Amino acid sequence: MQTPTQIPFSLTNQRALITGGGTGIGLAIAQCMVAAGAQVILTGRREEPLQEAVAGLGEAATYSVSDITQLDTLDGLVDRLEATHGPIDILVNNAGINLKKPALEVTDEEFSRIIQTNLNAVFALTRACGRRMVERKNGCILMISSMAAYYGIDRVVAYAASKSAVEGMVKVLASEFSGHNVRVNAIAPGFIETDMSRKAMNGDPARRDRALRRTPMGHFGKPDDIGWAAVFLASGAAKYVTGASLPVDGGNSIGF
Ligand code: NDP
Repeated sequence: MQTPTQIPFSLTNQRALITGGGTGIGLAIAQCMVAAGAQVILTGRREEPLQEAVAGLGEAATYSVSDITQLDTLDGLVDRLEATHGPIDILVNNAGINLKKPALEVTDEEFSRIIQTNLNAVFALTRACGRRMVERKNGCILMISSMAAYYGIDRVVAYAASKSAVEGMVKVLASEFSGHNVRVNAIAPGFIETDMSRKAMNGDPARRDRALRRTPMGHFGKPDDIGWAAVFLASGAAKYVTGASLPVDGGNSIGF
C-alpha cells in the first residue's frame, strides 16, 4: 500500500456545485464539504435561503439563483459559473421535490412536475457538467436517491419513479464516464429530518411509526449524515467507487 501523503478524505482545491444547497440535506452537504476544504456553489429558486446559507458558510461559498427545471438555461449556467469561479469538479444533484398522494389521484401534470425536477433536470445538468468533466478527465457526480427507489412506499408514485430512474442513470453514466476519470454514484438517504420529510410525516403518525419501526438504529437521520457520506464519495478515499448507490439510512433498507 502507498503511504498517503495527504488526508484521503480532503476536498482541498475541489469546487462543488450543489443544487438545492440552501436548505436541508443540500445545505448539510455544503457544510461538510466546506469543512473538508472544498469551495461550494449553491443553487436554488429562492434567494433568501441561499443568502443565509452562504453567510453561514463563509468565504468558501457562493450562490446562484437558478431553477433547474428551466432545462435550456443549464448549459449557460454551467458556462457562467465556470467562467466566474473555475472548473466544477463535483456536481451534487440534490434538489428535489415530493408529492404525497394516492397514485389513483395523481394527475398527469403533477406526475410531470416531479419528473421534470427530479429526473429531467438532473439529466440536463449532469450532461452539461459531465461533458466538461469528461473533456478534463476529472470529475465526480453524486445523485441523491431515496428509499423510495429501494422498496414500495405508498403514495409517492411519481417521486419513486423519478428516484428509480436516477438509480438507473447512475449505472449507465458510470459505465460511460468512469473510463474518463469521472465517477458517478448515488446516496440513498433513509428518513432524514428536513422540511421535506417533516411535510411527509407530520400529521401522519402511522407513517412515521412505520418508518421508525423498520429502522434498526431506531431514529431518523440528520442532514450531516448525508453530508459526510457525500464528502467520502467525492474524495480520493472513494477513488475506486463508481456506479454505486450507498444507503445512509440507519439500516432502514435492510430492516424487517
Ligand atoms: P428540502 O425541501 O429541504 O430541499 C430541497 C431543495 O431543492 C431546496 O433547497 C429547494 O430550494 C431546491 N429545489 C427544489 N426545486 C428546485 C428547482 N426547480 N430548482 C432549483 N432548486 C430546487 O428537502 P431535503 O433536503 O429533504 O431534500 C434534498 C434531497 O434529498 C431531495 O432530492 C430529496 O428527494 C432527497 N431525499 C430526502 C429525504 C429526507 O428524508 N429528507 C429522503 C430521501 C431523499 P428552492 O425551493 O429555493 O428552489
